[in-house]
Amino acid sequence: MDRVFNFAPGPSMLPLEVLEKVQKDLLCYGSTGMSVMEMSHRSKMYLEIFDRTVADFKDVMGVPEGYKVMFVQGGATQMFASVAMNLMQGGKADYIDSGNFSHNALVEAKKYGEVVIAGSSREDNYTYIPQYTLSPDAKYVHITTNNTIYGTRYDRLPETGNVPLVADMSSNILSEVYDVSKFGVIYAGAQKNVAPAGVVILVVREDLMGNEMAITPKTMSFKKMADADSMLNTPNCFGIYVAGLTFQWIKAQGGVAALEKVNIDKANLLYGFLDESKLFKGTAQPQYRSRMNVTFVTGDPDMDAKFVKEAAAKGLVNLKGHRIVGGMRASIYNAMPMEGVQALVAFMKEFEAQNK
Ligand SMILES: *Cc1c(COP(=O)(O)O)cnc(C)c1O
Repeated sequence: MDRVFNFAPGPSMLPLEVLEKVQKDLLCYGSTGMSVMEMSHRSKMYLEIFDRTVADFKDVMGVPEGYKVMFVQGGATQMFASVAMNLMQGGKADYIDSGNFSHNALVEAKKYGEVVIAGSSREDNYTYIPQYTLSPDAKYVHITTNNTIYGTRYDRLPETGNVPLVADMSSNILSEVYDVSKFGVIYAGAQKNVAPAGVVILVVREDLMGNEMAITPKTMSFKKMADADSMLNTPNCFGIYVAGLTFQWIKAQGGVAALEKVNIDKANLLYGFLDESKLFKGTAQPQYRSRMNVTFVTGDPDMDAKFVKEAAAKGLVNLKGHRIVGGMRASIYNAMPMEGVQALVAFMKEFEAQNK
């Protein structure tokens, strides 16, 4: 059985080199005589893996001094609550409602403080990033840099002045260069662009720690997790290890800047075809098109279903759109090679010619 081109939105493709390395070291990691899955998280060998993973992440992401990098659990969804519990401090926060996950984030935050919806494109099916008006006295501004389900992306970050910018980067972390110093908090579930599910990468500016609500569970406290170096309880040891292999892979590709170029080329190839196609049509407004999740339709649900089915038979799998929007979505994260996008476009052309 050959490997397919897997366009799944998450969990999603990992680089082949990363999987091969996992396979090679699976039974015996180094001279330990055991797999990484079987190691104590407090063992010297594991701590070496952990420390290198943190250092490599700081390197590829460009994390400056004054920020703590953590690996936590509970998914990006648990972060929706953690962010509010740690940062709201009895005040209010601005949320920009640009998609399903940003909406889920603000619904969760409402349990812990006052949420102001600073802008929303919900009424227009989230086909663009909305305009927004920020509150000068907000404790933070929350955004979702890439909207996984609707296929949109901030083409420009909000200017928040002294108000900390908090970003859910689950579906585009390490796919393009971000200036980390512009953010107070960055978090990302690893299962889109980095590792298997179960790890969240969390970057917190140090001065934003230590103000959590008294009821905050200790595993969700930024300060307590930072002080314990992510090991207040047993972390997702294996997931963190795989994340580390992905960071090394990113370095070997020339870093995030080099991957960003490839990602732009991949996205341009697919959107370029969508713009000239008479059968397929992109659903996101061009200015806000995601480079990671390309959403499109034929306009006929039966034709969409036929396309998804025939593509799968050609080894182009998981192209069905999210259940709440329908149509198609091609997720083309870092690990999707250019050849995968070329194969998809070639098949779309063929399908269009046969279904005039
Ligand atoms: C997938 C995703 C989530 C949800 O992540 P979980 O780890 O399943 O909680 C949140 N935000 C964004 C932008 C996502 O793409």
